Amino acid sequence: MSIFKPTRRDLLTMAAAMPALTLPAMGRAQLGPPHQINPAHFSFTLGQAKMTVVSDGYLGLGTDGLGVNADPAEVQAFLASQFLSTSQNYSHTNHLVIELGEAKVLVDVGSGNRFLDTAGRLMANLDAAGIDADSITHVVITHAHPDHIWGVRDDFDEAILPDAAYSMGAVERDFWMQDGLVNQVAPEMQQFVLGAVNSINVDGADWQLLTNDQEVAPGIRVIDTPGHTPGHLAIVVESDGQQLIALGDSMTHAYTNFAHPEWYNNFDMDGDVTVATRKRLLDMAAADRMAVLGYHFPFPGVGHVAREGDAYRFVPALWQFD
Ligand SMILES: [Zn+2]
Repeated sequence: MSIFKPTRRDLLTMAAAMPALTLPAMGRAQLGPPHQINPAHFSFTLGQAKMTVVSDGYLGLGTDGLGVNADPAEVQAFLASQFLSTSQNYSHTNHLVIELGEAKVLVDVGSGNRFLDTAGRLMANLDAAGIDADSITHVVITHAHPDHIWGVRDDFDEAILPDAAYSMGAVERDFWMQDGLVNQVAPEMQQFVLGAVNSINVDGADWQLLTNDQEVAPGIRVIDTPGHTPGHLAIVVESDGQQLIALGDSMTHAYTNFAHPEWYNNFDMDGDVTVATRKRLLDMAAADRMAVLGYHFPFPGVGHVAREGDAYRFVPALWQFD
């Protein structure tokens, strides 16, 4: 029996052949953009409720806004470990339409055409999902950031769904409408303030102002989830004992927010309060086995929360075809 004893020359020859077989430790196979348009709606049921997630498009953000209270190198290493881009945070915009009883409730109204070109597709995507926008009875706003409320204004500065009842948090409205806010915020936030004020002042929206635990329609209520903005609300849907929380932006990332709940992001106005709210929501959803919907999670952003030691993991819902 002969034993193969490689010479130095053999080893060099093998090494030269290796790169084709070995991926670099931090690399990933790149999946490119679609070659045909993907659907932008997803439906499921929760007890008696018919639920449809409809996208407004996406926001291409930098990853430097993630985990701003952590070591940037640690954040980058974490993103790479999850096969995520270390430069671009491709952030989805998952709106929820809840049909329960007589109500057809839309959660947030999207960016409209005054924010980023990659968003503002909600009305077209509702149509593609077979949902007549004029049949929506209620619009609930989680908070007054551009991607959630600017779409309320049509091209004529009138409410885009004139027959719907509009509601948002009383604390949220009071924050954005306080006198002189635009002069108190950082220059890059001034457009956010002006846009929020113009959206809240839109013709044709007579805002109902909500407080913690208030019902929007039977089986659909809001809960205070402050931090990302002062008056941020999440929406809890309950039917036949099944519960789902539409998180809004109380959680904005399906990886960092679960594995590192203590990290907050650049758009979280009060980082410490954001983290406290997030830990409360994660604990509640995991313990009570509630479903969650993350507005900025990978589409459709519906799933559950698994506890893993001191951290958590987002478990996406099964995509069912019929
Ligand atoms: Zn947002």
